[in-house]
Amino acid sequence: MARTFGGVFMYSLSQSEIQSFKKQLRDRALELRRAIHGALIDSDNKTYSEVAGRVLDIGEQSVVDLLADFRIFEIEKEVSELSEVEAALARIDAGTYARCADCGADISVERLRAYPSANRCTDCQARHERMAKDMTPSL
Ligand SMILES: [Zn+2]
Repeated sequence: MARTFGGVFMYSLSQSEIQSFKKQLRDRALELRRAIHGALIDSDNKTYSEVAGRVLDIGEQSVVDLLADFRIFEIEKEVSELSEVEAALARIDAGTYARCADCGADISVERLRAYPSANRCTDCQARHERMAKDMTPSL
């Protein structure tokens, strides 16, 4: 059920819980950056190795944006996870973390502990996955 948008949104998470998720997400982002960096360095492709240097030096900027122009198959999984993690960190900064993107309900702490970058509640995620499955042509 949708909550009052525009009203005061009461977080069910405490500030310290949010900070702890933020730390987890930042650690994960760094791990993914290192993995992406390593994969790019290892590739024989000259452009990739040039990009690799920037992946770690980019600071707070989005690595996903940096890599958006390159469709690098080997690191697609890492890039897509990093994009979720970066989006979750942006939601923390924007104050919309732990709110379902579809229905606006709180995402449970249990779900966030299992999956800190979740942006849908369990119900909406299940619905979303069913829809995505229906749309994906079978290979
Ligand atoms: Zn929802």
